[in-house]
Amino acid sequence: MNLNQVLGLRRSGLLQVCIELLAHHRDDGSGGCARCGAPLAACVPRRNSMKVIASAGLDPVKFDTATLLDGCAYVRPELAGGGSS
Ligand SMILES: [Zn+2]
Repeated sequence: MNLNQVLGLRRSGLLQVCIELLAHHRDDGSGGCARCGAPLAACVPRRNSMKVIASAGLDPVKFDTATLLDGCAYVRPELAGGGSS
């Protein structure tokens, strides 16, 4: 039994919060986090958000599009696709 099944992640507010967190904790263009200033790989909110999004069966990379969308990284889960389970 995975996290998605346990928590109903796809329908949860937790998933929405993590998607928004990922939008804030994005690459600032220099490999650092735009929100907390940590090196991107060391940004804990970013890492944890990506884990939750992945646990919901979605691809975190599809939500991490801040640089492509000019600072607006929010993508509705139904638009990002991902496997259904
Ligand atoms: Zn950060």
